[in-house]
Amino acid sequence: MNPLSSIISTLLFLFFLLPCSLLLADETLQGCFQDQLGSSSQEIVHTPNTDFYSSLFQLSIRNLRFASSSTSGPLLIVAPTNETHIQASIICCKKHGTQVRVRSGGHDFEGLSYTSADPFVLIDLSRLNSVSIDIEDGTPWAQAGATLGEVYYSIAEESSTLGFPAGYCHTVGVGGHLSGGGVGNMMRKYGLAADNILDAKMIDVNVRILDRIAMGEYPFWALRGGGGSSFGVIIFSWKIKLVPVPNTVTICNIAKNREEGATDLVYKWQNIASQIHENIYLAVTIQAANATDDQMTIRASFRALALWGANETLPVIHNHFPELGLEPKHCTEMGWIQSRLLYAGLPVGSPTKVLLDRSSPSGKGFLYNIQYLSGWQDSGEVKRKMRWVRKLYKYMTPYVSKFPRGQYINTKDLDLGKNDPVKPSYTEARVWGEKYFGANFRRLALVKDKIDPENFFRNEQIKHPTSSTGSVWYCC
Ligand SMILES: Cc1cc2nc3c(=O)[nH]c(=O)nc-3n(C[C@H](O)[C@H](O)[C@H](O)COP(=O)(O)OP(=O)(O)OC[C@H]3O[C@@H](n4cnc5c(N)ncnc54)[C@H](O)[C@@H]3O)c2cc1C
Repeated sequence: MNPLSSIISTLLFLFFLLPCSLLLADETLQGCFQDQLGSSSQEIVHTPNTDFYSSLFQLSIRNLRFASSSTSGPLLIVAPTNETHIQASIICCKKHGTQVRVRSGGHDFEGLSYTSADPFVLIDLSRLNSVSIDIEDGTPWAQAGATLGEVYYSIAEESSTLGFPAGYCHTVGVGGHLSGGGVGNMMRKYGLAADNILDAKMIDVNVRILDRIAMGEYPFWALRGGGGSSFGVIIFSWKIKLVPVPNTVTICNIAKNREEGATDLVYKWQNIASQIHENIYLAVTIQAANATDDQMTIRASFRALALWGANETLPVIHNHFPELGLEPKHCTEMGWIQSRLLYAGLPVGSPTKVLLDRSSPSGKGFLYNIQYLSGWQDSGEVKRKMRWVRKLYKYMTPYVSKFPRGQYINTKDLDLGKNDPVKPSYTEARVWGEKYFGANFRRLALVKDKIDPENFFRNEQIKHPTSSTGSVWYCC
């Protein structure tokens, strides 16, 4: 026998010696995970017939419209505890042509982090939630599955004069929130949460783990406001910049009904709220309220957070907005971390540990961000309430940004449009993409071209590679 045929016959012999189970296992998606992860696969990968599957799936469904039995669950849920588990997920899903959805805190308005019309694997990052606040070293890191509450709590454990400028609700995940911008009540002074990210670790479609230097400045720019998984990456952790906060901040609350001049106050508010000193964030909530037991009215509730004590805050607000009639009785001084509780709707004075509880439920140049909210208890109300919100949205058209009308990516809206499931196109995606990102949309799509040209990471509104238009441009 010549040497070549001897090698071939030896290889064939070895091939037949491979255990049948291994060959068969890899033919299925689940088997691929077993091959990749070995015995740890049982703890990390959950199938619909395991006990943990259902509770893990429901755990971070924050939009209860999707908590019903009509929502189809994923083929598998992967609950990684380190990078290699995420890499294995990408390898197996690519191999088996299965879609991936990535969920950190699960607050996606349209449930796109855990629903899909196609069969999918859910990568649930809730176990990757460590936060390390090393102030002396100056390098705080938060894993993508951590919540804002966990970040705020960890900071407060280390210092009462440092904070992080991000959103209100403590259960929001930093994976989705920071990658979509992150609007909060210190943004007038410090910008969005995404403006305070110094570095990030992400895993791309080729399972490379990249930090800021390795990924380059364009992808790093896209990650901070371009909207999570859209770029064909999974964010693993963020390095965040803490900002100085005073020992005492001031919160003021005052509400006026229509009969007390609420309409004029809102009118005045929109002219001064963006002009006042940057230490003061003054927001308004407009909602239906009871005027008397049998009469409804409209109420405007104004709330200010000031990075000052009350003595400095009151004269400044009074100077700009005397009609509001703000008095010392409307204001309370507290530590920054207590103000986090208040904005999260938790009782002030509660132990800050409540911020760790997960069980309760971008753009520059915009002066205001409006949220239209409607709630209901009875599922029979869905259609009527949704109709009402859509009507209000339409009614507001003349009064808000135009050409295009802006929309914040962290409050996704599928009413703006969806990709054609068969033939998605860049031109089509521009319709909603430019609403979210304005002129930056094209630049973001170009980053997507580079990072995920095969569009492995996709969802109903994801940016499509621009190459279909025949023009690819990239610069640094
Ligand atoms: C009750 C509530 C309060 C809110 N308050 C605020 C607020 O104060 N300020 C504000 O700006 N926004 C707020 N939001 C909006 C919130 O910031 C966005 O919904 C944000 O995307 C949620 O992030 P998440 O990780 O919790 O959500 P998820 O549903 O887990 O993710 C949202 C999107 O990001 C993607 N994604 C998540 N994690 C990763 C990851 N690790 N890598 C890649 N992609 C990922 C998901 O696939 C999905 O597309 C609020 C939302 C809710 C429901």
